[in-house]
Amino acid sequence: MKVFKTVSSLQKYLAKIDKNKTLGFVPTMGALHDGHISIVKKAKKENSFVIVSIFVNPTQFDKQEDLKKYPNKLKHDLELLKVENCDIIFTPETNEIYTNNIKSDSFDFNGLDKVMEGAFRKGHFDGVGTIVKKLFEIIKPNTAYFGEKDFQQLQIIKKMVATYNLPVQIIPCVIYREKDGLAMSSRNAHLTDNQRKSAPLIYQTLLKCKELFPEKEINIVKKFVKNEFENNKFLELEYFEIADTETLIHYSSKNKNKKYRAFIAVFAGTVRLIDNIALN
Ligand code: AMP
Repeated sequence: MKVFKTVSSLQKYLAKIDKNKTLGFVPTMGALHDGHISIVKKAKKENSFVIVSIFVNPTQFDKQEDLKKYPNKLKHDLELLKVENCDIIFTPETNEIYTNNIKSDSFDFNGLDKVMEGAFRKGHFDGVGTIVKKLFEIIKPNTAYFGEKDFQQLQIIKKMVATYNLPVQIIPCVIYREKDGLAMSSRNAHLTDNQRKSAPLIYQTLLKCKELFPEKEINIVKKFVKNEFENNKFLELEYFEIADTETLIHYSSKNKNKKYRAFIAVFAGTVRLIDNIALN
């Protein structure tokens, strides 16, 4: 496993890779858990070489305190990746990527960035677009893997790749969960015992929505979700939406030709948890 901190040393190494081999890329912000590792395993199966980036991208944080408290577990991350026989790790410092100009580019994501995470986290997706485009340009992977845990991010990256005609195939990866259904996230470590015990309600509610969806109107499903969280002492609903899988436009009535997904964001104290599920 080769670990690089600079763009030049990484590119020098990548230049030696046989052009007939495929390079799969897994971008991460570190503090790796089994969800990340499931993506690395998939990438390993599907490519000749796998590169994982570990970079906490400052421009995608709307709150500076979130950036400051983002866990740094590099040593542990590298140990996990070694077990997976990961080929290459890229773990640059902020200046290596942003050369003293820590700013986002602005993107036209055709409205995909205006709803849900984009509405509640201003500038977040411009930050995501900026870092992912930079990393694609540095690494030039054949394939890149993104988790459906961040489904809106996945759609935005697909849109960016299409807009700029970037020569990379985007591969979606299913959401990896704890045994009790809570979607794995580096933020779960910040939950208190009571918050952690309550948190499976998020996925349980999504499963009930999936059950209700064929028979009930969208506003009934939304009311159901609101009620589920109203009386919970440890969880506070930020948003719940049912949206078209492709456009992410919210609807209040159903069209049987469309594919829908339910999206949820919940606060457990100051910890923000997101999840989503396919409804049909
Ligand atoms: P992050 O380090 O949080 O930026 O995540 C890196 C990648 O891992 C993103 O594509 C995420 O969507 C994905 N990811 C994070 N958590 C999970 C999970 N529980 N299941 C599947 N993918 C995940």
